[in-house]
Amino acid sequence: MATKLDDLAKQIDPRKLAELADKVDIDALLERVSRLDADTLQSLMRTLQKQTEPLDMPAPDGDFYAIADTLSDEQRELQRRVRDFMETEVAPIINDYWSRDTFPQQLIAQFRDLDLVRHIYDERGERRPDASVTEGIITMEMARVDVSTATFFGVQSGLVMASVAVGGSDEQKRAWIPKLRDLEQIGAFGLTEPEVGSAISKGMQTRCRRDDDGWVLNGEKYWIGNATFADVIVVWAKDEDDGQVKGFLVPGQAEGLRVEKITGKIALRAVENGHVFLDNCRVDDSARLANADSFRQTSDVLRMTRAGVAWQAVGAAMGAYEKTLAYTQSRQQFKRPIANFQLVQEKLVRMLGNVTAMQTMCLRLSRLQDAGRMSDAQASLAKVFAAQKCRETVALGRELHGGKGILLETDIARLFSDAEAIYSYEGTHEINSLVVGRAITGLGAFV
Ligand code: FAD
Repeated sequence: MATKLDDLAKQIDPRKLAELADKVDIDALLERVSRLDADTLQSLMRTLQKQTEPLDMPAPDGDFYAIADTLSDEQRELQRRVRDFMETEVAPIINDYWSRDTFPQQLIAQFRDLDLVRHIYDERGERRPDASVTEGIITMEMARVDVSTATFFGVQSGLVMASVAVGGSDEQKRAWIPKLRDLEQIGAFGLTEPEVGSAISKGMQTRCRRDDDGWVLNGEKYWIGNATFADVIVVWAKDEDDGQVKGFLVPGQAEGLRVEKITGKIALRAVENGHVFLDNCRVDDSARLANADSFRQTSDVLRMTRAGVAWQAVGAAMGAYEKTLAYTQSRQQFKRPIANFQLVQEKLVRMLGNVTAMQTMCLRLSRLQDAGRMSDAQASLAKVFAAQKCRETVALGRELHGGKGILLETDIARLFSDAEAIYSYEGTHEINSLVVGRAITGLGAFV
């Protein structure tokens, strides 16, 4: 054996041998290797090969159960277009805008060109038969890259357009839906108030009063997304006469309306949230949503859009998983990719399990919604589950990025922060849990 190894050593390139001799005692090495049995030698060779050959690692893909296969051709094409747009136009600029508390206004014209909402609402202002799944997939693709962008879209095509679709007369739908759909008019949705959030159905303080041929609005709305630049703000207010909640399409420039931008947020910083003041703000009767006579219509709007927030959670978690997997494949520690460590793989698998469960749950929810069979509790369960799992998933992603996980440049820090807003808005974790709790126990536990 020793002679064979000596012969072998003679065949090795002398330069390589000299390099090796600088690092190890070659005679001792050969001596030790000569004492290894065949199995151990083979295993040693496999380890050496693993460390020297370029590793062939699969590209990250957050659609593990191939939900895209269950979509229509039109939805898949839309998904591809939104993904391209988000990766080429939004990803490169969003951290800058996020850090400056500013919405990238140039995206509005680009969204107009993408013409997404046409796939959700038809010309008459009616939702298309598969609108919820389509909306969900668009939202997921947006949030996969950036949740602020998905929120802008959710306010416009979700909350505002649903308010018109649910509460508007046929004439109002014909007048408003095309303008909102084509982003000729940007909308905001004003329900929450500084002193009343979760309890808004019971404790709304903003008031409306019939006056001559119009209405007078007084009160404040808080957290209102897009309000700083909206052309129209949907304002919900309690009628002083009959005590019922009514909805209004208030022009952004209306006299008596003032908006202050909310600053200092640690989440969704590229969404411009406003504190809206209504001080004897007068609007025509035509601005009142003709079919919104009570809080029931407001609830109908929130039910329609709740699935959209769950889809935001899916997208943020999917983006976090894919980014994190790519990072663990490229980041080397102890001379190997960190994805090669067992503890890291366990976290990646937990992230993927969350993403897959959220996707399949939300897809089923949206299909129920499209079939007209989705209940409040079903929508709330998806919001509760997805927001919670999203929070866990982005936290694991942040963890796996090590110190870089708190840097905006890795994107994971932004997704991590934005998950906090998803967790609390459009019904907090607790309120949505109580909606489900009431449905399954038959006992309301809100107060
Ligand atoms: P509170 O209602 O004060 O709740 C505080 C805590 O108490 C929560 O944990 C809550 O779950 C808990 N709690 C309250 N009641 C109960 C109970 N009965 N049992 C157990 N726990 C309870 N609103 C709009 O109208 N338009 C928008 O465009 C909009 N955009 C938003 C964007 C962002 C980034 C954020 C953060 C919020 C936005 N909101 C918007 C408001 C959002 O919907 C509210 O923040 C949310 O409904 C919670 O209300 P709150 O913040 O007043 O919390």
